[in-house]
Amino acid sequence: MSNKGTVYLVGAGPGDPELLTVRAMRLIMTADVVVYDRLVSPGILALIPGGVARIDVGKRPGSHPVPQKDINRILIQLARAGRRVVRLKGGDPMIFGRGGEEVRALAENGVAVETVPGITAAQGCAASLNLALTQRGIASCLVYLTGHAQHSRTPDTDWARLVRARATLAIYMGAAKIGAIAARLMGAGLAGATPALAVCNATLPRQRQILSDIAHLAEAVAKARFEGPVLFVIGDAAGAISTHGVFQDAPETEQAAASRA
Ligand code: SAH
Repeated sequence: MSNKGTVYLVGAGPGDPELLTVRAMRLIMTADVVVYDRLVSPGILALIPGGVARIDVGKRPGSHPVPQKDINRILIQLARAGRRVVRLKGGDPMIFGRGGEEVRALAENGVAVETVPGITAAQGCAASLNLALTQRGIASCLVYLTGHAQHSRTPDTDWARLVRARATLAIYMGAAKIGAIAARLMGAGLAGATPALAVCNATLPRQRQILSDIAHLAEAVAKARFEGPVLFVIGDAAGAISTHGVFQDAPETEQAAASRA
């Protein structure tokens, strides 16, 4: 078969199997082996046909069961053995998914690779709440950020520039650092009353979300005791969900409610 020996770097989307692309679904159905990450939902794994080999290389925060270089090695070996490999990643493989590292390793080893985009978490969160991430006159720019390295001594983010741009910020991997991130944003001039949304397990049946403001976000998140991946949407555009009626789960703090009143 002409496609043998290829690695397909496939985005699985935020969780709901309905949000897979047609191409992703087709590749899953015809793979020899699926190598998948922790954020690929059980509903999507259930679509993998019974006879197809599966390899779980999932990582958890703070522990890395399969180091990246071993993942690369597994992909290269499978492809060299002539297998049709689906490398399945949560969301989009090229947004905070280390897709670039895998492409480079595969290319360096002469392995054919094709990328299949997926719906990234920010888009899944926004759609699940009918939320527009850009809005005329309110937010003309959207920025994807990682919250992961924000305690490092050399801040790699120009917070003041983001605040000046009045960007909608979609913050990935920020749950552990959200207090520090909020402090940096306010230190850079962001008003404390700026709407701040946290969405956990977006597009899955166990989705939950809170709407707060940036000044009270960390406290609201601590209270919420989320279990699962959390994405933050910060900026005036996020405030729209309080008015358009799909918002159900809002244990916001009393101060946040008062400061908005
Ligand atoms: N490649 C992925 C992102 C991987 S980084 C993508 O494009 O979506 C992992 C982070 O993604 C998590 O810490 C969380 O911030 C976010 N995330 C992924 N799936 C999510 C979901 N269903 N709900 C909320 N956040 C999610």
